Amino acid sequence: MHWSEALARQVIERNPNKERYVCATGISPSGSIHIGNFRDTATSYFVVKALRKLGKNAVLLHSWDNFDRLRKIPVNVTKPGMENYIGCPYVDTPNPFDDIDHNAKSYADYFQREFSEELTRFGIEPEYRFQAEMYRSGAYTEEILLALKERGRIFDILDSFRTQDAEEGERENYFPVSIYCDKCGRDTTKIIEYNETSAIARYACKCGHTAEFDFHKDHNCKLSWKVDWAMRWRYEGVDFEPGGQDHASPSGSYQTSKIISKEIFGYDAPVFQGYGFIGLRGAAGKMSGSTGLNLTPRALLQVYQPEVILWLYAKNDPTHFFDFCFDDGILRQYNEFDRMLQNARNGKGSEIEKDILYNAEITGREIHTVPMGWLVQFGSVVNFNPDVLEAVFNKLGTPYLKADFMERLTLAKNWLELCSPESVNRLRSARNWDYYNHISESEQKEIRILFENLSKNQYNLDDLNTMLYAVPAQAAGVDINSLTSKEKKASQSAFFRNVYQLLINKDRGPRLFWFLYALEPEQYLALLDFSRPLTDEERKETQANQENQTKADRKPGSAERKSGTELKEFHVTVQPVKDQVDLDAFRKLDIRVCEILKCQEIRKSHNCYKLTLDDGLNKRVIVSSIKHDYTPEELIGKKILVLANLEPARITGVNSDGMLLAAMDDERNTQVIFVDSAIPNGTALC
Ligand SMILES: [Zn+2]
Repeated sequence: MHWSEALARQVIERNPNKERYVCATGISPSGSIHIGNFRDTATSYFVVKALRKLGKNAVLLHSWDNFDRLRKIPVNVTKPGMENYIGCPYVDTPNPFDDIDHNAKSYADYFQREFSEELTRFGIEPEYRFQAEMYRSGAYTEEILLALKERGRIFDILDSFRTQDAEEGERENYFPVSIYCDKCGRDTTKIIEYNETSAIARYACKCGHTAEFDFHKDHNCKLSWKVDWAMRWRYEGVDFEPGGQDHASPSGSYQTSKIISKEIFGYDAPVFQGYGFIGLRGAAGKMSGSTGLNLTPRALLQVYQPEVILWLYAKNDPTHFFDFCFDDGILRQYNEFDRMLQNARNGKGSEIEKDILYNAEITGREIHTVPMGWLVQFGSVVNFNPDVLEAVFNKLGTPYLKADFMERLTLAKNWLELCSPESVNRLRSARNWDYYNHISESEQKEIRILFENLSKNQYNLDDLNTMLYAVPAQAAGVDINSLTSKEKKASQSAFFRNVYQLLINKDRGPRLFWFLYALEPEQYLALLDFSRPLTDEERKETQANQENQTKADRKPGSAERKSGTELKEFHVTVQPVKDQVDLDAFRKLDIRVCEILKCQEIRKSHNCYKLTLDDGLNKRVIVSSIKHDYTPEELIGKKILVLANLEPARITGVNSDGMLLAAMDDERNTQVIFVDSAIPNGTALC
């Protein structure tokens, strides 16, 4: 049984004949709602779906806690003066992004609208409750008066969860409610007098204002969190509500509110489910700066279909950790999703799988399982032109239609461009003379033979594959069967690498026979024909390329800085020149040119990248704390200087074998020293 159904059955058992079941979810609009919070919504939503499947009437009640106080300003809110509103409810704090969304009426409204729009993409349409409006309309007056009357007992319940003893007089002075000041709007108030019979209080605010507050008539106050939660369970008749793992612990909010609910409001607490955190794998690249903490569902929807996102939430038990992937793990997730969907469509899936897919389904939408890996591989080759791609699929014998793959093609394009620019395969526009001139004569001969074979013959898919593997032997004038498999492999892999370099400027690419078969020969033949002399156009282009490359090397990273910020100004306190060393001491340092092959995030580190380098002899790994200064895209393929004989060290759990050279200022802003790409790997600095 799927976990959502197990929870639904508990809900029914708790109250078997209820006409309408209420599954709640609640979020403070304290900033952009991220994918971790979305688990709250998704968990409750799946229980609603399970209840409906069991023939029950159920509603998803989404509470916007816009009457909570503004605690701190999120990092992405930079509007000046916002800190003056700390202590005010979100609903009374101005829209921090009025330049982006004029229509949002307040801080709360801005983030509420952002999230509500995202929810519609998932087909989730909750019934909304806005807590500021509820409180201020006086809807909760009866409950507030009850809580005030029972404040001694509430204090005792809260106290029973505390490890410290209460101080003298604390119980008498405890009020389970905070009043928002009439004058400054903040909750920095304290009740200084209270009449139990009339329920009229006098409060003093930190701003100096004091006033009378009649709980029968004045509504600008809010119950404290654990009381508020319990009160709303009764008010709305909540049957199910999830909460973060921190709420689920034995001393967490849920346990406290559960007792308050029963003892004070006479209501059995709803069925509860704690949920765990969600992670991010791979560099999100341009998509989210450096962390996933603020990643919104909207950002995910740039690369994930909404069904796949729901499927990940549904597939994993709420207490389990899982990752959204920005590396090629996302392709495996799509594959797994497609496989499960196809199995279910063929009547082969298990019951649980069917339930998972039922939860992921969005009414009115249909999923076409066009493999994401293909869209990524072929999409970039045909420059994401859907008509050309449709023809390619047709030729490959998998006639997917444009209408079926358009949505995924856009996502594949986004993924490639935003998260994995190094995976883009784009046909060159002109022959790669630079490369051709540096391969051996026998390798050039292989290219010539390939060109002749391809221009003279029309191959079917299988013959094309056989032909490609036979080219090196054909060029060497030997019988392919006379070669050992080791010899065969070596010559073939060099040949394939050369073809990829000539076609797409990379050492590897999509399966070559597929790739050539999918494309029209006129798209690539000219790139393999070096019998024609270098044209003027090619000469110009090669020159322009070299100049661009040199420029890029000269001003590394200046084109696009992380988070769009400009290269920071360097503040340097110039130090006196250090003690002299002799030339021998300097010569002992092995400083050499290395090329950055890979740049990976390190899970536990905020500052460091793991860089895989080519030092001219071998691959080596170094750890470098330049994450705040560069994106992986700005590093991969660049050449740098590395102190290669530095004693290896273990940094953030990774063995670092060397250190790159960089300029660093007083505030640890870093400028890596880049070297012209024309200088071979392994060149020594002297
Ligand atoms: Zn005040």
